[in-house]
Amino acid sequence: MTTPETAPGRIATGQSTARAQRCLFCGAEYPLYPPIVAGCPNCEREGFKAPLEIVYDYPESGDWLPDSPLPGLTRYAPLLPPLADNLSMGEGGTPLVQHPPHLVDGDFELYIKDESRNPTWSHKDRLNLCVVSAALAVGAPGMVAASSGNHGAAAAAYAARAGLHAVILCTPRPPAVASFLQAYGQTVVAVPDVLTRWTLMQRIIDELGYHPASNFTTPPTNHPFGSEGYKTIAYEIYLQLGRRAPEAVFIPVSYAELTFGVFKGFKELKQYGFIPEIPHIIGCEPAVGAPLKRAIAEGQPVVHVDAGPSDAYAIAVPVNSYRGVVAIRESEGLVLAITEEEMKAAQAELGRAGMWGEISSVISFAAAKQAKSLGLGKKGPLVCVHTSSGFKDIHVGETPIPLIDGSWDAFQELMAARQ
Ligand SMILES: [Zn+2]
Repeated sequence: MTTPETAPGRIATGQSTARAQRCLFCGAEYPLYPPIVAGCPNCEREGFKAPLEIVYDYPESGDWLPDSPLPGLTRYAPLLPPLADNLSMGEGGTPLVQHPPHLVDGDFELYIKDESRNPTWSHKDRLNLCVVSAALAVGAPGMVAASSGNHGAAAAAYAARAGLHAVILCTPRPPAVASFLQAYGQTVVAVPDVLTRWTLMQRIIDELGYHPASNFTTPPTNHPFGSEGYKTIAYEIYLQLGRRAPEAVFIPVSYAELTFGVFKGFKELKQYGFIPEIPHIIGCEPAVGAPLKRAIAEGQPVVHVDAGPSDAYAIAVPVNSYRGVVAIRESEGLVLAITEEEMKAAQAELGRAGMWGEISSVISFAAAKQAKSLGLGKKGPLVCVHTSSGFKDIHVGETPIPLIDGSWDAFQELMAARQ
């Protein structure tokens, strides 16, 4: 592990056309560095914490888009924030798997964009390539992230590769996730609740100068560079569908970095004339809270709700991000609230089709069950973004494998019970 004293101040390089940061709410622009993670200063004066995005001097021609969706996000460097040299671990280029047509309830093509095949088994690798590059670009002595799992592991891994010390603040985790988070030689520490976590994170930023790699504000604003990495999911889906746009994309939502990133990627494809319309972005939230659904319904930038407990712990949040509102509104999309039972049924069903997804991930597949009743799928394929594999769920390891004595009789008994 690299200590703060010996961390490199390596400046990120690349052929990025990123020019500035821009507030999604008021449009104010700021220099590209340092990243504004705690919200737009202009909106802050009005008492609102607003997220920012990256703006580019877009290349005139669409030559930046490669012909094939191979792994490694550096291939999309012109339309990403500056990426550090040698930091990529071949993230992205994940398969777009067609769901077996005989298992689809309706006359449409359904695909699963399987982000569990990334270097740390989730979509978060795309984000952390961009965020760790930003930390290196500003010469940060280390990084700090608050995370329940996937983000923390990806941040730890990419920081480790960059030679940066990372502090990952989590809440107590299931055993598999605890091992996962600690696999990268970084400092992983559990604190009792989210607010304590954010307060400590702020202190680490102030006292040690560590770079914030996750959200620590209410309402959430998040790192402006992070969502940009998710644009590549849209580029890949387009290429993998044979240069077609899906009609709609179902996406698990918490603070909507993924939702906004995929939306923005399709928006850029439209801007270059690759696709005629931006696909409808269908945000998928656990029904125990669903703040984005309510924000859209009430026409509010942000709402707070009482979020109950959910097995989809990675995405069950009590407040939405304005980032999600922009993506849903501008794509003429909608938000679906999915129950715990629907998520569990979807997980079992996907398993029977050969894919094991985290509960927070299969929510997109559960939501796609409503496609027929929503009249979706007539104008193009539907895509579910599957963010992560199932080994991180709360109840992993609780179902024992049946143990028999090895005799033929016992085996026959077991087979009879299966009928
Ligand atoms: Zn603003």
